[in-house]
Amino acid sequence: MFKKLREIPIKILILEALLRRLSFTHPKRNLLQEELSKGYAGYRGEQSMDYFLAQLPQDNLLIFQDLRLPLAGNTYFQIDILLITPSFFIIYEGKNILGHLYFDFNQLIRTLDDQEEMFLDPIVQVQNQQYHFENLIKKYFNKQLPNTSFVVVTNSSSKIEINPDYRLAFEKVIRTPAILQKTLHYSRKNNKEIFDKKDMQKLSRILLKLHTPAFPNVLEQFQITDDEILSGIYCESCQSLTIVKSYRKWLCTNCGQENNTAFIHALIDFYLLKGKTITNQQCKDFLQLSSSSISSKLLRTLNLSFIGTYRNRAYNLSLSDLQRKLVSNNKDGQVTKCPRK
Ligand SMILES: [Zn+2]
Repeated sequence: MFKKLREIPIKILILEALLRRLSFTHPKRNLLQEELSKGYAGYRGEQSMDYFLAQLPQDNLLIFQDLRLPLAGNTYFQIDILLITPSFFIIYEGKNILGHLYFDFNQLIRTLDDQEEMFLDPIVQVQNQQYHFENLIKKYFNKQLPNTSFVVVTNSSSKIEINPDYRLAFEKVIRTPAILQKTLHYSRKNNKEIFDKKDMQKLSRILLKLHTPAFPNVLEQFQITDDEILSGIYCESCQSLTIVKSYRKWLCTNCGQENNTAFIHALIDFYLLKGKTITNQQCKDFLQLSSSSISSKLLRTLNLSFIGTYRNRAYNLSLSDLQRKLVSNNKDGQVTKCPRK
């Protein structure tokens, strides 16, 4: 049973928001586009494992995708795929790296277009995850579940080569279709039930509670400053920031397209690029609204929770809430009652 599904990585959403809101001549656009392509390739690589996960016998099996769990202090460890049964757990770490891959002790060397690039050894990486997850189980249950881990090369056109002395790598590095057989094989060897039904439910609750999605600072990574981010409401049809409020409608002044949910998208961009709370003034400026009262009514119609008194009120933006509103408003074909001009 899939207990937690993978979501589109927040970094992809941030990069897309940035590309909507940087000028067409911005010097970093190509770099951002490249990073976005890499992000999508990794995401699709992880998705390619799902087909084989779905073929596993689902009785007593819990599947968690893309978990990020706390270690001490402000550090976390991340797991691509975690399988848990009452008898064991398995971690699969997906690697979508194109080219000739040479697995050596402590490093992975990728050769592509005659260029060599070094990566950290993903086997060590996945064994660390195994170790941390074992500790988590010990901490909450004082029990030990047998466990193993694998590195999955998700790019089927990559060539795999392993240092002949690195015997562990022959066991640990697999291609995507092997997920099914590796899991079945391990489950036949480890069938003593250590967790009961209650333990399984408790573990599932704990993991969903501990999961903390990453929020990478992409602006800092690419050294883009706040004042380079353009304001306005984005029109998907003509890809410009030219949607304005016109009476009860939201219309693009460039192509004439009506889009009554584009302002929610703009608030999502604000969340991704500017901050998790928004004041009335910030909303007016970012959406380029003509008055504070329109901005204030708009924020109120979205039923956002807020902090502070009237004048210094800051509304809490929640990505999942805004995304839900976007979907439900699109379905209804209308907005949650637009404030009148
Ligand atoms: Zn337009």
